Amino acid sequence: MNEWTIQKLLNWTSEYLTQKKVDSPRLSAELLLSSVLGLKRIELYTQYSRVVEEEYLAKLRELVKRAGQQEPIAYLVGKTEFYSIEFDVTPDCLIPRPETELLVQRAIEFLRQRAGPHQVCDLCTGCGTIAVAVARNVPNAKVIATDISEAALGVAARNAKKHGLEERIELLQGDLFEPLLPPLDVTQFDLIACNPPYVSAAEYEALDKNVKDYEPRAALYGGQDGLDLYRRLCEQVGRFLKPDGALLLEIGYQQGPAVKDLLEKMGLFAHITVEKDLQKNDRVVMAIKTLEGTPATRLI
Ligand code: GLN
Repeated sequence: MNEWTIQKLLNWTSEYLTQKKVDSPRLSAELLLSSVLGLKRIELYTQYSRVVEEEYLAKLRELVKRAGQQEPIAYLVGKTEFYSIEFDVTPDCLIPRPETELLVQRAIEFLRQRAGPHQVCDLCTGCGTIAVAVARNVPNAKVIATDISEAALGVAARNAKKHGLEERIELLQGDLFEPLLPPLDVTQFDLIACNPPYVSAAEYEALDKNVKDYEPRAALYGGQDGLDLYRRLCEQVGRFLKPDGALLLEIGYQQGPAVKDLLEKMGLFAHITVEKDLQKNDRVVMAIKTLEGTPATRLI
């Protein structure tokens, strides 16, 4: 009898996804099958010879077909891993990227060497990636996370709850700092992080189908040159950041010089560094605010 075991399904699916030029076909096959069967990935291998029932096969077939049309695996299974933490994701928010782990790492290091408790702000939080990863790793940090998308914040709320962080992560709907404006004097942050939409018009047109056709445009497109959000953020960041506090921005690989220039012109920061990701692309800008009353020029 031609029975579909887990082993056979994994081999068939990864072969099919390879033909369809889906990234990481074997891993994708494992993620789809483990989602359908409600198993951990490792359990696929401990149950390698298990024969899979027809009801599961029908579900798998549907998901594999969609994956073959470049629908992202994270949306198909409703979750992904970032900074070794599981996040729920939906098409309402960008899928967390591994490059953003560098920003999270720098945020955690910065906070750990500074006396707490810490007030952190995560702008454009999406599904709550940076807020959750920082709060989970820095127990004396409180995070206020904002996003313009109510739907994305719904997913962020699920993620905060899933990791028991709802007491330390406050989610507010609005554009950048907008939801923080009324009680101005009390919102001073040790760290402000932001992974804004930063894709330029030309880059947006050239995005891969699995990004362009499925991920929210509002989470990707940053205006003609991709820098709109940085410009608007710079207008306001000064009043929200404590002296000696850090601004951490994720940037596109071509935006290092422009964002550095933008921040330098503000005269607000003592140190500005642009750091590369593992692919050797500029990815994270870190700017440390001067001590209060000290003009930036005297520190350089
Ligand atoms: N790095 C993402 C991409 O290449 C863009 C993320 C963003 O705009 N914040 O699709």
